[in-house]
Amino acid sequence: MAKTIQAVRGMNDILPAETSAWQYLEDTLREVVHAYGYREIRLPLLEKTELFSRSIGEVTDIVEKEMYTFDDRNGDSLTLRPEGTASCVRACMQHGLLHNQVQRLWYGGPMFRHERPQKGRYRQFHQVGVEAFGMPGPDIDAEMIFMTARMWARLGLRGARLQVNSLGTPAARAAYREALVDYLRTHAERLDEDSTRRLESNPLRILDSKNPDMQALVASAPQLPDYLDEESREHFSGFCSLLDVAGVAYEVNPRLVRGLDYYSKTVFEWVTDQLGAQGTVCAGGRFDGLVEYLGGRPTPAFGFALGLERLLALLLSADAQLPASDPHVYMVLSGHEAMQRGLVLADELRNAVAGLRLQVNCGGGSFKSQFKRADRSGAAFALVLGEEEIARQTAVLKPLRSDADQEVVAQSGLAARIGGLLADDSAGQGC
Ligand code: ATP
Ligand code: MG
Repeated sequence: MAKTIQAVRGMNDILPAETSAWQYLEDTLREVVHAYGYREIRLPLLEKTELFSRSIGEVTDIVEKEMYTFDDRNGDSLTLRPEGTASCVRACMQHGLLHNQVQRLWYGGPMFRHERPQKGRYRQFHQVGVEAFGMPGPDIDAEMIFMTARMWARLGLRGARLQVNSLGTPAARAAYREALVDYLRTHAERLDEDSTRRLESNPLRILDSKNPDMQALVASAPQLPDYLDEESREHFSGFCSLLDVAGVAYEVNPRLVRGLDYYSKTVFEWVTDQLGAQGTVCAGGRFDGLVEYLGGRPTPAFGFALGLERLLALLLSADAQLPASDPHVYMVLSGHEAMQRGLVLADELRNAVAGLRLQVNCGGGSFKSQFKRADRSGAAFALVLGEEEIARQTAVLKPLRSDADQEVVAQSGLAARIGGLLADDSAGQGC
């Protein structure tokens, strides 16, 4: 027999047993971003390669070694999106969404990076991204943090720590860059291969290195906060005091830089110790230069992205109470007439009872095998129609998850009875 084909490494199927948790996570996040006035934008999975190489920067992990890039049949170089900000900015410019107006936008979906797959790190993974354009002050920076804090609260997640830093204005960053390069040059023999290459092209990224030897070197490097100019300092202290007033705890991490090149001023990450090495669940910051850099008018911008796989892992380890998706009722049918009537009755019940999840046994089978399926479906009740019930226009409603007695109900009264049971259930029982 031929070997069955497997999924691409690092690209996961999300199986039916897992989708309820995903939907719950996505619904909750959507509810929170909508509560702050953000609107969804849906973007293509494929973009011209140039969009990412320009916006993310040539000398980043993503552009150097993580992009899925190929020539299409016309010979155009295309790339599966590794992140969403670049596409979002492109779409906003292309459709004039940034002219004389502010925008609060969010998007979600799969991103693609050719990384080494491991727990919390995949080649296809999912993000929800949130971006705000046109707001220069620290108020929007802080509000985004409040929004993320609300997400954790709504999801029942505890233990995420907020780290913040300021990358300064481009001028402040340039001054810091010079000091950092001077320092690193004097320790050139200790730099690893990646860092040596980045020394000239993108030295700030060395601060972000995952190599422990580099982290030791970086620990005594000049620190970014010492190089902030007046404007950056004011923005950052304004931001921090808004967090203080709202009672949001944070730590300033002077070595926090973001992997992407286009950030300036505020940057932040939410980090947890519960996920091992892949502990960042949310990261973002201000990117005032990006729109202009991609050919638009200067436009202040702030945004972040959440890693859904990592959030989901936290959610599952927190034993969150997920909404059920099992059917409430499984309809068991015996005989041709019952099958005919059952299919119609099932739709009548779906029409009459809002939110009812009713699964009809299709494909025949003995009573015994149908009850087995009913049990496996997770349904709280079996609704049984046989010859006798057809003749009497009744049905038997049998609880599957409790010892309560079964009851015979007139078909005309079923909607009310089942509706009543569902209403009781929203107060907390087995449905
Ligand atoms: P890391 O330092 O973990 O590689 P990053 O800086 O590359 O993260 P961003 O580009 O800021 O990550 O993406 C935002 C979030 O998306 C991350 O904080 C993380 O939660 C998630 N994420 C990034 N890459 C992956 C991946 N390969 N698999 C799963 N989640 C990811
Ligand atoms: Mg990365």
